[in-house]
This record gives sequence, structure tokens and C-alpha cells, in this order.
Amino acid sequence: MIRYALACADGHEFEAWFRDSADFDEQAQRSLVECPSCGAKDVKKQIMAPAVSTSRKREAREAQAEQQRTMAMASAAVRRHIKENFDDVGSRFPSEARAIHDGLAPDRAIYGQASAEEAEALREDGVEVCPLPPMLNPDFDKKVN
Ligand SMILES: [Zn+2]
Repeated sequence: MIRYALACADGHEFEAWFRDSADFDEQAQRSLVECPSCGAKDVKKQIMAPAVSTSRKREAREAQAEQQRTMAMASAAVRRHIKENFDDVGSRFPSEARAIHDGLAPDRAIYGQASAEEAEALREDGVEVCPLPPMLNPDFDKKVN
């Protein structure tokens, strides 16, 4: 059995049960479905837009959550790789990066802190620096670090 929300041409809304959708089509064609308010036999199924849009919204939300999870994991993996393989020079980062660039310090991959102005000054001097990917989900960082 299937319940349909129906409406007549005058806009009266009512519900009725049918065996299946073919059963409704057949009864409607033979004018067996009539509006309980005015007796009109021109009765149509109401369009169930809200149900459709709700499930689409849920799909979109799930897809977005999945994407955020993927990005958070990738971000955590990059952070882990850097922490495991790069030399942590902390707040000495700007001077150390410049020293490596100028050949005054051993050439190696480093990470540390720099202000936006310091990072910009390094770039202007031709020293390639880039920010660590943000910690999007602290739980993932905890797991991998
Ligand atoms: Zn009616």
C-alpha cells in the first residue's frame, strides 16, 4: 500500500491509499478518485518537493563532511611528515632560512615560526617559504603525531 497526498483542481488537499502507483493511475483515469471536499474527479498527486530536497541536503552535507575529513587527514599527514623529517628551528626560522639560502648554514629542510611580515620579507629575498597546512581536526593530528 502506498499513501498519496492528492489535490483536486481547486486546490483541496487530501490523502488516499492505493495498492501501488499504477493502481492510483488506473483509478484516476477511470475517475474513481474524487475530492472529498467538492467531488471533483480531476485529482492529481501533490509534488513532494520537501522530501526530495531534504535527502539531497543530507547527501550534500555527508559529501562535505567526507571531504573535510579527507582534507583534515591529508593536512595531519603533511604536518607529521614535516615534524618527523624537518629540523625544528622554532623562532629562529627567519634568520635560519636566510642563512641556509645564503649558504651560511647547512642546507636542510627546516620548519619554525615566522610572522607574516617575516615570511613576506623572506619571499622578497628569494627564500621559498610556505605555511604548514592548518590543523583542521586536532583529533587527526593527535593520532598521527
Ligand atoms: Zn476539491
